[in-house]
Amino acid sequence: MILIRDGRVIDPATGTDKVQDVLLDGAGIERTGPSINAPDAEILDARDLIVAPGFIDLHCHLREPGQDISETIETGTRAAARGGFTAVCCMPNTHPVNDNASVTRSIIERAAAGASVRVWPIGAVSVGSKGEALAEIAAMQEAGIVAVSDDGRPVATAKLMRQAMDYCRSLGLPVIDHCEDPSLAAGGVMREGPRSIRLGLKGIPAESESICVGRDVEIAALTGARLHIAHLSARASLAHVRAAKKQGLPVTCEVTPHHFTLIDEDVVYDTRYKMNPPLASREDREALLAGIADRAVDAIATDHAPDHPASKGVEFDRAPFGITGFETALALALTELVHTKRISLMRLVELFTTGPARILGIERKIAGGEPADLTIFSVNHKWTFRANESASKSRNTPFDNREFVGAPMATIVGGNIVWRREVAAAM
Ligand SMILES: [Zn+2]
Ligand SMILES: [Zn+2]
Repeated sequence: MILIRDGRVIDPATGTDKVQDVLLDGAGIERTGPSINAPDAEILDARDLIVAPGFIDLHCHLREPGQDISETIETGTRAAARGGFTAVCCMPNTHPVNDNASVTRSIIERAAAGASVRVWPIGAVSVGSKGEALAEIAAMQEAGIVAVSDDGRPVATAKLMRQAMDYCRSLGLPVIDHCEDPSLAAGGVMREGPRSIRLGLKGIPAESESICVGRDVEIAALTGARLHIAHLSARASLAHVRAAKKQGLPVTCEVTPHHFTLIDEDVVYDTRYKMNPPLASREDREALLAGIADRAVDAIATDHAPDHPASKGVEFDRAPFGITGFETALALALTELVHTKRISLMRLVELFTTGPARILGIERKIAGGEPADLTIFSVNHKWTFRANESASKSRNTPFDNREFVGAPMATIVGGNIVWRREVAAAM
């Protein structure tokens, strides 16, 4: 038994925001309440800390199978635990692509053997994510996928997207799209604008994303399927999502910490600023912040995309897209969203917990009988993120050496404390 004592329990599912105890028994929550008496329990002192439902990351790349040099399920989920995540959804663009049940099963088996947190695989929409024929979606669902996506690229054609949505609607699976018009994005390495011109780098216009979001929203209306837009970065894309929600369509979106923190003007000749979609304009960032506050945005997702120094440490044009994100996500959200008073702590917790859970069609709640997946964090702990101390195998982050106020403090999965921050004379 573990007794989490005197934490400020914030649970969007029940609207709870009060200091109380949480008693865990085995893999589940036994009960919550004031001053629980449990003499035999191990005590976890959560005074001055927030106790939240376990964070879920809807979007990450664990690179296994096939790219173990950049990350493995073991190292990636250790980094996720340090970021406060209790469950992560891993994208299928591995080698081989997760486009059939045997790859799905092998990911789940590897996770069972060595993952720190729950791993929920996302299957490919199309065979090899090539955009030609639908993958074995029903068989993958039986094996354990929670959604489908051809992330890394968009679902290639409107016709294939329609087939995928028709099929996934009957299966009850969300379709997650990486929205990008390849003809507009081709060869681009950062957002098109004054900064790309000054740096002499080929730009990608915002419309590359928003045109594809518009297409997908229309197909969602046509099919009635659940559509989730990955790493939404442009104001015009968010306008499509807002319009879809107004019509009552089951369309949702996620925003990454780097897109609500940085803009294209921050890009320097350093491949740690190269990601897809690229960092957007100041106006786009303002639109994302507004959408996060007024609920047009449903979830924060990291798009944790580790790349080994040997691949990322090349010229800007040649480097792969992507940055790591697990360990800095919560601290960036506290910095940009809560400390600036743009959103409440309740809303922040929602963006990491009940928001993503709803997209997956599941519940997340702190109550007796629920699984003991909990994230404990501080809003005032001062620390410095050092990439070379990260649990990830990769170091590709623009937030290296960044000082933060607020941090994950402990991560509990199925009643086990899978990670705990070492702090002198605390916890
Ligand atoms: Zn993507
Ligand atoms: Zn991705």
